[in-house]
Amino acid sequence: MYDVAIVGAGPAGTTLARLLSGRCRVLLLHRQRKKCCGGILTPESQKMLAKLDLALPREVLVDPQPYCVAVWDLQSQLVRHYARQYANIDRDAFDRWLISLIPAKVDIRTDTIYRHSQPVGNDGFDIFFTEKEEIRSERVRFLVGADGSASTVRREFFADQLIPKRYIAIQEWFESPKVLPENFKQIGIDFRNDYVGIFDSEITDFYAWMIPKNEQLIFGGAIPYGNKTQEMFELLRTKLNKAGFHLDCSFRREAGSLFRPLNPFSVCLGSERVFLVGEAAGLISPSSAEGISSALTSAYYLAQTFGSKGFNLSAYHKSLRLLRGQLWLKTVKIPVMFYPWLRKQVMLTGLTALDRGL
Ligand SMILES: Cc1cc2nc3c(=O)[nH]c(=O)nc-3n(C[C@H](O)[C@H](O)[C@H](O)COP(=O)(O)OP(=O)(O)OC[C@H]3O[C@@H](n4cnc5c(N)ncnc54)[C@H](O)[C@@H]3O)c2cc1C
Repeated sequence: MYDVAIVGAGPAGTTLARLLSGRCRVLLLHRQRKKCCGGILTPESQKMLAKLDLALPREVLVDPQPYCVAVWDLQSQLVRHYARQYANIDRDAFDRWLISLIPAKVDIRTDTIYRHSQPVGNDGFDIFFTEKEEIRSERVRFLVGADGSASTVRREFFADQLIPKRYIAIQEWFESPKVLPENFKQIGIDFRNDYVGIFDSEITDFYAWMIPKNEQLIFGGAIPYGNKTQEMFELLRTKLNKAGFHLDCSFRREAGSLFRPLNPFSVCLGSERVFLVGEAAGLISPSSAEGISSALTSAYYLAQTFGSKGFNLSAYHKSLRLLRGQLWLKTVKIPVMFYPWLRKQVMLTGLTALDRGL
């Protein structure tokens, strides 16, 4: 019997597994799949890595390291730069590195997909999962859903909880020099070095982005889920191509669900025996969709509550008060960032923006 089964080996699941190792018997279910992600580590994520006593290895970092975000309002054609110290990473390499840090005492099952559980009295569950195309089961005392935005564990145990607003994030990868307009500096953005947030309320009430990665460029957007999602992404592509880009020849395309917690009640941390961490809990920034820092933070605090009786739900709730408050405060910024008229007024003032001549 295992003490804890963790579903999902992203930043939340791997961190939790590492921190519990040696303190109890841990089973980690790892479905191998590339995560659709911008690969930007915010100052909050970097601070959390420092708290976890981790330093990024060179193979995780990619060029360039942007020190600001360029905000490009497509409707008003305004551009502003805001200073922020990001780390630019290869997300796949980051996930592989986090897995490599897990001690051998943790039983990691690769190529597994969690399916469902059956309670065994008050003592725990029999969990069922597919491993190399065979259905298997294990008995566990506690179950942790670290299985990301479309969490199976959350749907199974907390179906009655409020679900955050759903978006589809689409990302395409390009050979950078080929897709940039010849006159890109006239736009006021250095697309080879800047992390760019693109705003256009005709396309989405969230945002789109461009991120340089070594010699490549990611172009992506988070668009409300519905029958016009793909159409809106294509409209954005058309608009950018009219501005001089050549965004028709991607060599990789990926997509995934993104649940945006605009209501604090859509965060769900768990119950007596089933816990949620990271994006499965709804812990992601509603203003930027940045979620790696919350994944690391929630895993760290859940691990801290583990004692002889297992996890402590109320202690977990208490320790995440600050993080939840910070995420909630980000919703206050939303009208300024996402309502075109207000955004334009703020950008026109140039408040907190960098004065940067290209
Ligand atoms: C397009 C996009 C761009 C983003 N860019 C950034 C960014 O630049 N910076 C940032 O900080 N955040 C970003 N985020 C958010 C960030 O990726 C997530 O918040 C973060 O990865 C959450 O970590 P996690 O461990 O909770 O979940 P995940 O990283 O999603 O990991 C969940 C894991 O569980 C596995 N899994 C799922 N279901 C099962 C199952 N049934 N059985 C077994 N395993 C399962 C998945 O395969 C995955 O490995 C972005 C999100 C999107 C959608």
